[in-house]
Amino acid sequence: MSSAPANAPLRPIGVLGGTFDPIHYGHLRLAEEAREALALERVLFIPAGDPPHRPAPGTPAAHRLGMVRCALRGHAAFRADDLELRRGGKSYTVTTLETLRRRYGPHRPLVLILGADAFFGLPSWHQWQRLFELAHLLVAMRPDFPPPWGSEPPEDDPPEPGAGLPPALQEVLAVRRAPKLAHLAETPAGLVGFFRNTPLAISATSIRRLLHEGRSARYLLPEAVLRYIATHSLYQGDSLIP
Ligand code: ATP
Repeated sequence: MSSAPANAPLRPIGVLGGTFDPIHYGHLRLAEEAREALALERVLFIPAGDPPHRPAPGTPAAHRLGMVRCALRGHAAFRADDLELRRGGKSYTVTTLETLRRRYGPHRPLVLILGADAFFGLPSWHQWQRLFELAHLLVAMRPDFPPPWGSEPPEDDPPEPGAGLPPALQEVLAVRRAPKLAHLAETPAGLVGFFRNTPLAISATSIRRLLHEGRSARYLLPEAVLRYIATHSLYQGDSLIP
């Protein structure tokens, strides 16, 4: 039986999609900071089967899901969700969010968590304007990419959108930018929040490269994932390095 009062606000669900080839501390720390900042009830980690905007991942989906499961073990609010892998075909985010909207109902805030690199490419996504009918966007910093906002404002001000953003994104931000992150927990969908997460210059590409060269990737990703990689002899062939 649930202990929440009947009229308690519905806590938001975070959604972090990716190739997770492999999952690393950049993903995990981002999810943890987003969970804390927005009091997310849970964060769903959703490995893409066939991402539409990049070459198919070199590592089979079952292993990418296996690594995500290893990494999330022991975190009560983090869940691996294989819905895109079960669906097959192109992993369109809009289709995934439609599924999640049906699962969680019309009132639950859904928060799609994206790194700045992914946000810049948003206007090329399938039916990208429809994403805002289904979820909020929480845009995170990545140190290897320009921040989606311009110069660093004083700590209390919401960051301003960066001048380098594609015009289509600037138009969206003019109407959808949340003055405070807390607003993302108050409505089901439609806002964009900029997140001052801890910048961690970790990427799956750099980890694949290290492992391929026989170098150490310790402390960039969980030990359990490194053990999984060793057990299954992943990231050894040339085809896995872009
Ligand atoms: P690759 O190097 O293969 O492109 P990646 O490290 O970017 O992989 P993905 O699985 O493609 O990892 O990323 C999934 C999501 O997590 C994306 O929205 C991406 O921007 C975000 N992300 C990945 N790494 C970081 C990081 N270090 N800091 C913040 N966000 C990140």
